[in-house]
Amino acid sequence: MRNTLVAGNWKLNGSKASIAELLKNILAGMADGRVKSNTEVAVCVPYIYIHQVQETLEGTAIAFGSESISEHDSGAFTGEISGPMLKDFACEYAIVGHSERRTIFGEKDADTANKFAAARKHGLKPILCVGELLEEREQGITETVVARQLDAVIDLEGVEALTDGVIAYEPVWAIGTGMTASPQQAQDVHAFIRGKIAALNADVADKVQILYGGSVNGGNADELFAMPDIDGGLIGGAALKAEDFLAICSAGK
Ligand code: PEP
Repeated sequence: MRNTLVAGNWKLNGSKASIAELLKNILAGMADGRVKSNTEVAVCVPYIYIHQVQETLEGTAIAFGSESISEHDSGAFTGEISGPMLKDFACEYAIVGHSERRTIFGEKDADTANKFAAARKHGLKPILCVGELLEEREQGITETVVARQLDAVIDLEGVEALTDGVIAYEPVWAIGTGMTASPQQAQDVHAFIRGKIAALNADVADKVQILYGGSVNGGNADELFAMPDIDGGLIGGAALKAEDFLAICSAGK
């Protein structure tokens, strides 16, 4: 049985003061036993706050990581942050291929695959985001798009590599829009992803956590996480408020 994972993605938000307050409140809620023992909790945070987050969370039940990672280990890559640097600050996770990286910053499937490889090489767990644009859903090519995004990683690293990370299905039209995919819409794509992986390796398909992301909140998390192939969520906006995040963290199977 797979554990539930709820991972926050803070994006370009926060200050030293707001982060201290947010983490204090989330830790207090978790100490009250609001989160089931089979639910893992993580926050992926802006690079500059990783040190603060490490000092607050190391040794607690909340794991932490970054929102992206360089595909390079070191060298002349101004502005980048590498896997060894993230490990130096005890990061466990690194998000790769978030749709905002793909659509705003032009990251291609091959870049995402290289970042997945870089994270894995340094013992970080990549959270691999995949998902279709609204027009791609309307054209009926959701599965084609998601398969292409997954294949970029599988072709580079092999299907077994997926168990070193986590997959997050995030329909782009549902991110930050309040338009959540219905539990059945999400389950259909999750089942497609698991089935595609199972065709290559049934054991990997059984083990890999597949999260749903896209306007998850305390009101819809229960229904989404109850679906058989949804193993938790990647949470944007609702991860910035302790009460909302805790409500989602208590929604696991
Ligand atoms: C995200 O950014 O990964 C995300 C799912 O955002 P939101 O929860 O705000 O839709």
